Amino acid sequence: DIEKRGFRAYLVGGCVRDLLLGRMPEDWDIASSARPEQIMEIFGAQALPTGLKHGTVTVKTWDGAYEITTFRTDGAYSDGRHPDAVAYTKTIEEDLSRRDLTINAMAISSSGRLVDPFDGAGDLARRVIRCVGKAERRFSEDALRILRLYRFAARFGFAIDEATEAAAKQLASHLDCVSAERIEEELNKLLAAPQPGVYLEPEVLAFVLPELPPEELTKARRRIDALPAGTEQVSARWAALLLPLGETGARKALKRLKCSNARIDGAAVLVRECGEKTPDTLDKCDLCLQAKRLLGKYDLHTVQQLTALWTALAPEEKASFDALRAEAEALTAQGTCCRISQLAVNGRDLMAAGAAPGPGLRRVLEALLEEVITGRLPNEKTELLAFAARFSAS
Ligand code: ATP
Ligand code: MG
Repeated sequence: DIEKRGFRAYLVGGCVRDLLLGRMPEDWDIASSARPEQIMEIFGAQALPTGLKHGTVTVKTWDGAYEITTFRTDGAYSDGRHPDAVAYTKTIEEDLSRRDLTINAMAISSSGRLVDPFDGAGDLARRVIRCVGKAERRFSEDALRILRLYRFAARFGFAIDEATEAAAKQLASHLDCVSAERIEEELNKLLAAPQPGVYLEPEVLAFVLPELPPEELTKARRRIDALPAGTEQVSARWAALLLPLGETGARKALKRLKCSNARIDGAAVLVRECGEKTPDTLDKCDLCLQAKRLLGKYDLHTVQQLTALWTALAPEEKASFDALRAEAEALTAQGTCCRISQLAVNGRDLMAAGAAPGPGLRRVLEALLEEVITGRLPNEKTELLAFAARFSAS
């Protein structure tokens, strides 16, 4: 549609890289010679001015949203993070030259021609991450690129070009220009990668996570790599990284990075549970009770993360932690009662049966839960009420 009006349009950046890798791109970015206002005019109500400052318009179509950005170069960078001004340019090549990494600086024209002035395709084939242009200059312009470098290298398991890596380490102190939110975002993505260990570079981490003593890093890297990958597992990887700081230290570090409360709590709980002694090998009966007690405190996902983390800490116990996890999964699937909310009676039932309201109610419910999870009582209303009456009288 853009080209019908005499403008040029290219798929650009991450989607081109992903297509060449044979991966399904998550989002589709388009670079165009058309100005934002011209894009707005072409697409009318489908177009939203989402980033006019950077020349970006989002166009919603039946098969998803496209971000269309006018060819541009970035002006001078005086704050080590943002260009002072952006200027529109005439060619896709100029637009590609402002991009950070060669594998992110390719475009595909509407006729399917690859535009790749920095040999990003070659670097993809060689499995190497490299800056576009001189790495020192690119990292001085915008220090966030240092973290993006490790993030993309980790995501694909690529090596890092020597000159690029040297510049990244040398300029890591510039990361103090980058906001905590952006650092957190990059670290989350890095920690979601398959094997992020070797990409947690001590010289870089010293500036983004100074709380962590460098001598702890080797073990932390091993723990992290032993855990499953993916965005759902990032809290466990944070816990594996921050374990040496204890629960309080881990909370402080994550708070400083402006992590969400869900992230802070998710990781801190795991750090706390790992600080206590990892459970001993369990026989079948203890196993079931242990799984029920864990599910009484945490949701299944947390229990799964915890058993994975225990395994990372004590690989020789893997079989028993696997069994514990399997038990927790089975109990959840069966809907077995593991917490007060799953009891066949609640506080209202107890009061209806004559119990006095107040904190004593909770103690009764806790006692009932203990009877049920140990199997001494079935989770049935009449039996539970009878026990509660005896319990309250005693
Ligand atoms: P992802 O799949 O993680 O979204 P992506 O390559 O699309 O990867 P984005 O952060 O969405 O990454 O950025 C889109 C493109 O914009 C990149 O491919 C890159 O060309 C360019 N880019 C993004 N951030 C920077 C930056 N800080 N400096 C230079 N170029 C950048
Ligand atoms: Mg993207």
